[in-house]
Amino acid sequence: MDARPTDPAEEWPLPPVWMFDCRVCVELYKDMKRAPEVVDAAFAEGGPGVDHDPMDAIVSTQIRLSQHIATRHTEEVPEADSGCERCVTDVTGGQMPRALVLEHRARHLFAPPSIVGLM
Ligand SMILES: [Zn+2]
Ligand SMILES: [Zn+2]
Repeated sequence: MDARPTDPAEEWPLPPVWMFDCRVCVELYKDMKRAPEVVDAAFAEGGPGVDHDPMDAIVSTQIRLSQHIATRHTEEVPEADSGCERCVTDVTGGQMPRALVLEHRARHLFAPPSIVGLM
């Protein structure tokens, strides 16, 4: 049993149905969901004090998926999330290039809010 309390901000949302119709989305999504486990396994093997660069594996797979959605599924990218500081900043005169704004919003589709806000 998993005794950890579940914080809604940490929950992985269920990806939208259209993602499962796209082979690239499915592959990238699987890579991304596997990344934390791969990293955990590396930690378990290497023990503490060894830098396995965990955030790099997790972040890079998320970036690849969000870039893919922003460019190939542009019409599916959600509107700005009023509960997300990054989205709100973009809407109210942010300086981010349009491509990065779309990539960030794309992350809302598949990543927990706690992670979306970081990128
Ligand atoms: Zn796709
Ligand atoms: Zn956002």
